[in-house]
Amino acid sequence: MTSVIIDGKSVSQEIKSEVKLLTEKLKSEKGVTPGLAFILVGNDPASEVYVKNKSKACESLGYYSVTEKMPESVSEKDVLQKVDQFNRDERVHGILVQMPLPKHIDDCKVIQQIDPAKDVDALHPFNIGLYTETKSWGEIVDKRLLLPCTPYGMMVLLEKYGIDVSGKRAVVVGRSNLGGKPTAALLLSKNATVTIAHSRTKDLAGVCREADILVAVIGKPRFITREFIKPGAAVLDVGINRTEEGLVGDVDFEAAKEIAGWITPVPGGVGAMTISMLMKNTYLAATRTTNEKTS
Ligand code: NAP
Repeated sequence: MTSVIIDGKSVSQEIKSEVKLLTEKLKSEKGVTPGLAFILVGNDPASEVYVKNKSKACESLGYYSVTEKMPESVSEKDVLQKVDQFNRDERVHGILVQMPLPKHIDDCKVIQQIDPAKDVDALHPFNIGLYTETKSWGEIVDKRLLLPCTPYGMMVLLEKYGIDVSGKRAVVVGRSNLGGKPTAALLLSKNATVTIAHSRTKDLAGVCREADILVAVIGKPRFITREFIKPGAAVLDVGINRTEEGLVGDVDFEAAKEIAGWITPVPGGVGAMTISMLMKNTYLAATRTTNEKTS
């Protein structure tokens, strides 16, 4: 069997084009330009690239964007004040604090300082509560909830490729707040029977082999090998690992593609969706403000 390679790049482009049209409509009909503020602390080269790419995406969609660069030595108080300033700024509908923050700054405190309505990374406990308390994916979509960008992107990929989720067995390997946990919550909202596996899981390969949908959010290059995969399963690889051979995922792609039904490559799979979903969230946040103003 050779699997269908899920093309995250082209789906991501599709989402951006859709959001661009919606944005033009929002601007012409309501006079609102979506705005996104970035807070970048320190000089981590990877974080700088991430923020640059995100602000380029803002530019290509005609968003207002502003980047606040703060030195590594900045105090937690100053970061919290900057968040507050963006909370009050009417041009800004979304605030993104690029992680990781330096060790002397409590990232939970910073996330909780963001106005939940502007929390376009959907990391604030209020937003986590909103999407986990809903009973279905339909309700999530109807309520236009903010969702964490990478897991949201995965749900879109599953939809675009017609991969049935309801009633299927899903295994998510990894339980981070950014990756595994929200992915499991969204799969559950789509009626999958979900298992979250982690470093203490016994017989991990056996657990994974039960999955119709297998998600790897681990951070270990090519960790998921052929024997973890049920023939015909959909395999979503969130891992981004820098190796001497370049970027590789958590899945041994070459071996897995011979057995999976669908598989995401790295790069060009799940990771390609994240920025588009951030743009979508910012658009949603901007429309919500408009609705509040007009209601
Ligand atoms: P993380 O916080 O380090 O979490 C890794 C998870 O993997 C943990 O829950 C850990 O289990 C589990 N794990 C580690 N070794 C394992 C093993 N041998 N067997 C089973 N489970 C194991 O990492 P993260 O933030 O979730 O990120 C994971 C990967 O996804 C990274 O490569 C990251 O770059 C990538 N990522 C990509 C995007 C994107 O595409 N935009 C977004 C987010 C993350 P324990 O909890 O038991 O330690």
